[in-house]
Amino acid sequence: MKRRFINPFKVKGDWFKGNVHTHSVNSDGTKTPEELIGIYRGAGYDFLSITDHSIVLDITGLDGKGLLLVPGGEMCIGRSEAGQFYHLVALGVEDLPFKDFDYSLDPQEVIDHTNAVGGIPIIAHPYWSGLNHGDLMKLRDYHGVEIYNTSCDYERNTGLSASHIDGMIAAGLEPYIYAVDDHHGAGRSQVPIDACGAWISIKAESLTVKSILDAIKKGHFYSSTGPEIMDITIDEDGVISVECSPVKYISFVSTPSLGMKFHAEDEPLTKAVYPGRPGETYVRVEVTDYEGRTAWSNPIYNF
Ligand SMILES: [Zn+2]
Ligand SMILES: [Zn+2]
Repeated sequence: MKRRFINPFKVKGDWFKGNVHTHSVNSDGTKTPEELIGIYRGAGYDFLSITDHSIVLDITGLDGKGLLLVPGGEMCIGRSEAGQFYHLVALGVEDLPFKDFDYSLDPQEVIDHTNAVGGIPIIAHPYWSGLNHGDLMKLRDYHGVEIYNTSCDYERNTGLSASHIDGMIAAGLEPYIYAVDDHHGAGRSQVPIDACGAWISIKAESLTVKSILDAIKKGHFYSSTGPEIMDITIDEDGVISVECSPVKYISFVSTPSLGMKFHAEDEPLTKAVYPGRPGETYVRVEVTDYEGRTAWSNPIYNF
């Protein structure tokens, strides 16, 4: 079986951990940018994108104190079949010259603009937004989709958009997959603070905005809420080998009705080998630990 995969585990560079969706007091978040820098730096993150609504925060005067700040913003625009906004995150842009919360603005315009200025457009939290398969299939040329969003999970258990994404891939699209916090920080008793719960790990040449954005564009990353993927290898016959931190499940999620899930028995799993099954058009790796935390690879496509 021939497989095509932009494999971050086989390229040169170092691993950097970051969150690419966050809000501050400049929109509907509760923390100042300085407070956000302190939180994420303190948790060992390497980079952070503060993606406020309606404004791309000017980060030139902000001291990240070692935490790299990547410019970005979020826009809520257009109208889904359920009458809701699409939320789009744009990374690596200096501004978003559109009216936010505009039902009449086509989200494709924001995607096209973001690409034209060298940025990275991402469809945010499709489950939380109530986007259906038709809504997602209307748009083109975005880089990826959020498979997990901490804030949406904590707020109303709509953080996981895996089935939205698998529906898109089964229908022929090839999105990258992101896990993000979408930190707002609203304090509600019995709800954990939505910071440092989900991230992407990027293999990049160095910790600069250009290098991080380049690595994201190339797909040199995977997503996680806890477990670590150490290696993914694909041999000449298309057999996929995965190594990871100790987990309960290693899943090879694939074309409808295909794929395979490996369950730990007496010992946690730290590796799995999957040859694939006839008829699969893609496989993506998910590893899930005993706490239910998950890491997601980007999809591996067959050809
Ligand atoms: Zn949003
Ligand atoms: Zn957001």
